[in-house]
Amino acid sequence: MSHQELKPVDTKQIQGMLSRKKGKMKRFLSYCAHCSLCAESCFLYMEHHKDPQYMPSYKAINSLGKLYRKNGKVDRKLLTEMKGIVWRNCVLCGRCYCPIGIHIPSMIAFARSILRSQDVYPQLDEVSSESWL
Ligand code: SF4
Ligand code: SF4
Repeated sequence: MSHQELKPVDTKQIQGMLSRKKGKMKRFLSYCAHCSLCAESCFLYMEHHKDPQYMPSYKAINSLGKLYRKNGKVDRKLLTEMKGIVWRNCVLCGRCYCPIGIHIPSMIAFARSILRSQDVYPQLDEVSSESWL
């Protein structure tokens, strides 16, 4: 097991980070009407034959949304699952369009920074052995 996989999750640190951006991020999460209008503006969604896992809203809800729902009480397994969502499934290109102004890339970028704070991020060998695009 790598050092990255053994390190305990610092729940307090995650909660502190979540709390700092709570107003804006929780607003984004609660305003989402799950209408899927953002989906086709994401080239990764289109490239992956409209696989729902690549929908911008799916990615935000299943990363940052989960972190808020669980109030930061997450284990390393869940953080590792989120790693694929926020790095492999999104490149932060900013092309997704939401008619009510929800800014998905900033939510995913924030989820990345929380994961990074727990030493969860793609390793070089993962990036070269999997399709991250
Ligand atoms: S982010 Fe916007 S466009 Fe996408 S599902 Fe939510 S409300 Fe609809
Ligand atoms: S920022 Fe992410 S979700 Fe938005 S269009 Fe780019 S790859 Fe898709």
